[in-house]
Amino acid sequence: MAETNMQPPFSGIAADQLKDITARLSGDQALWLSGYFYGLHAAKQLPGVGGVLQASVSEVPLTILYGSQTGNSKSVAYKLAEKIKDKGLTGKVVDMNDYPVKDLKNEKNLLIIVSTQGEGDPPVSAEEFREFLLGPRAPKFADLKYSVLALGDKSYLNFCQTGIEMDERLQALGGKAVVTRVDCDVDFHDDADRWMTSIVDKLTASGSANGALAVSQPSTGSNGSINAATLQSPVLYDRKRPFEAAILEKIQLNGKGSIKETYHIELSLENSGLKYEPGDSLGILPSNPERLVYEALHHSKLDASTVVHQQTLFENLAHHYELTVVTRDVLQKHNGYAENAELSALLLDQSKLKDYLYGRDAVDMLKDFPVQHTAETFLDTLRKLPPRVYSIASSLTAYPDEAHLTVAAVRYTHGRYKEGAASTHLADRLKKEDFAKVFIERNEFFKLPVDSDAPVIMIGPGTGVAPFRAFVQDREARGAKGKNWLFFGNPNFATDFLYQTEWLQYLKKGLLNHLDVAFSRDTPEKVYVQHKLQKRAREVFDWIENGAYIYVCGDKNKMASDVQKTL
Ligand code: NAP
Repeated sequence: MAETNMQPPFSGIAADQLKDITARLSGDQALWLSGYFYGLHAAKQLPGVGGVLQASVSEVPLTILYGSQTGNSKSVAYKLAEKIKDKGLTGKVVDMNDYPVKDLKNEKNLLIIVSTQGEGDPPVSAEEFREFLLGPRAPKFADLKYSVLALGDKSYLNFCQTGIEMDERLQALGGKAVVTRVDCDVDFHDDADRWMTSIVDKLTASGSANGALAVSQPSTGSNGSINAATLQSPVLYDRKRPFEAAILEKIQLNGKGSIKETYHIELSLENSGLKYEPGDSLGILPSNPERLVYEALHHSKLDASTVVHQQTLFENLAHHYELTVVTRDVLQKHNGYAENAELSALLLDQSKLKDYLYGRDAVDMLKDFPVQHTAETFLDTLRKLPPRVYSIASSLTAYPDEAHLTVAAVRYTHGRYKEGAASTHLADRLKKEDFAKVFIERNEFFKLPVDSDAPVIMIGPGTGVAPFRAFVQDREARGAKGKNWLFFGNPNFATDFLYQTEWLQYLKKGLLNHLDVAFSRDTPEKVYVQHKLQKRAREVFDWIENGAYIYVCGDKNKMASDVQKTL
């Protein structure tokens, strides 16, 4: 800290008293006091201090900045903060959403942990920071040391895009990466741990910081109704240690003859200590369809009973490695063994690669680019089977100790007959009273308004209706006075009106003020939720004028953008 350049915020008597006290302090005492006051400041225990998030950068040498959608980046940020604190070092943890971008130019040690959503988008909380960093107003750095941990999902081509962009931009602006960026797939824990160890090693080796780490409290979700810390601690079960939840009920929601196959599944969270809010999701550790495991064994010409990692190849393929989806990374590893000219060319052509990956699985890869793997090289090529997450369709207040899901079974033909891993795990392979391996994934940006009097408009066609069942249940259970309006759509009224009786009951009770439905295939012309929205434009506008919150859930690519345009 360049003290001589700073104007002390004291004058008159206070300044005299400060001088008097300072004159009587030894060097060690002064140092101790500075740490003591900083600690109070961080814990928001000093009068007039709004918390460490407002602290100016010159006071702390290290900033851990996270951009999180579901809480994973945030959890890594706080874990890193703890590790740094254990070494007696100083730093602060800040959500990108709360970060004053004007402070960026003053950063000296910056650690960024950021996820990427779907096809390369930043998390909502990171949008503004990303725009600033990538834009013309971003500062040039003379002496910034930084590192980026990027979280993502390898099944998307633009894997870890946001982290990559931030890393490249910081470097272009003059920053020096002290630890090379690490890109993590969905199963991020091991890679994140390795990155954190390198960071801590660097920090302790350079002795770049000292004192107590000031870690701000995790902020609450946007409605702030339950503190995130209450929800998350102690974490007994997570994606690495999932809870075995008994299946209490499984009902097919679509009527006979429907083109859809949707299941309502009720799971028991009893004795798990797991807590969630409406808007959060449930992660499921799936298994692969047996038929696909046999196909993979057949086309790889490998013996199902070969033991790798203390399990048979069959067990590994059924429960631990991804077969239903292939990614660029998997093809690349496979080509390391196959050395196939066609595959090499494909890997270099982004657009052809995108077309190839769509709807292809590990068996297609074995058939299209044959090579004789050993059991070890085959498993080394494949991706670890990642969990899938579903919006929770129930409220814990209405159904204590339970989580309900609305799951559409994914089945299609693309060359061969294919099935989704998690959806058919729940639809076919798990029966009532079986156990599913689950964990909670928070979504801080999809929450009911804090003000329970605020009106909400919910737009959720297909299984996108799931979280809105949780919203309405929760509002009823808490006696919330706010008005509720649901827009729902699906192909046919007779077979696809998911939770029809429940919605009609809510309408009757007055809890649901309006229900607008769009059954797309009942009429010669397609009718979608946005058409219904358009029809009710005046009233929707009135609701917005009266402070309504609008939520959209479902197919992100087509439906959500059409709804956005209509709005
Ligand atoms: P879907 O395929 O989205 O179909 C639902 C309705 O939307 C159909 O009537 C469909 O009509 C219509 N539709 C098609 N294109 C549309 C457009 N551009 N604008 C508006 N409506 C359109 O239903 P789903 O199979 O149940 O899929 C739901 C989506 O929600 C999936 O993308 C899923 O990933 C997502 N989701 C699910 C959950 C969950 O917890 N299960 C949570 C969040 C999101 P036609 O087919 O007749 O054209």
